[in-house]
Amino acid sequence: MLSTTTKAIKLVMHLRKMGITDTCVLSALERVPRDLFVPNSQKHDAWEDIALPIGQGQTISQPYVVALMTQALELTDMDKVLEIGTGCGYQAAVLSKIARRVYTIERHKPLLDEAEKRFDQLGIRNITAICADGMQGWPKMGGLEQAPFDKIIVTAAARTAPPDALMTQLKEGGIMVIPVGEPGNQMLRKYERLSDENWAVSDLCPVRFVPLLPEVADQNGAAA
Ligand code: SAH
Repeated sequence: MLSTTTKAIKLVMHLRKMGITDTCVLSALERVPRDLFVPNSQKHDAWEDIALPIGQGQTISQPYVVALMTQALELTDMDKVLEIGTGCGYQAAVLSKIARRVYTIERHKPLLDEAEKRFDQLGIRNITAICADGMQGWPKMGGLEQAPFDKIIVTAAARTAPPDALMTQLKEGGIMVIPVGEPGNQMLRKYERLSDENWAVSDLCPVRFVPLLPEVADQNGAAA
């Protein structure tokens, strides 16, 4: 049996080989214990470079994709980041190691509750997580506006383009990373807001994500 440290180092070496070069990103993936974010039945594969089921029909992304998306955000320790699709909280935890503050939205309340427990357990204090429809962006709460964000990361796929609310909530000079496309034909895209109306869009790689769905999930309904 390999120790967790050895498994973490093996994963980082693999990510380097796959082309991840940002040392802050590699160090964050080494330090966030992925085994804590997956169900007991999946723990043996927690440090493998594969996506795993996390309940409610959702998945935790493959570490390579987490690393690629995080690297594409070009994070600094001054950044305020918005994540849509908290899931088990793994990507948010990785972001929290590099950015100043992370705001994350999940539409499945049970997933959000579990993610928040993990942040507490790990002593992570710079993540604010809420249950809402992330397609609407971060809501104004108690008269307090958090938008605009330096960076936005969406970990569920939009059908054709990023939701308008998210484009509005990105700062000028900011970067949004988001998978776009129909199931089976999705591309991870980087949107850079060069000025108010001026965007540069580039393709990063083909990916497979669960779809971005509207509204908060019905707790009694089928998993979607
Ligand atoms: N970042 C996650 C990956 C979760 S999978 C992790 O590290 O585990 C994508 C998540 O997006 C799912 O949990 C799904 O419920 C959520 N999601 C889909 N549409 C959403 C929306 N409109 N608002 C908020 N969350 C959404």
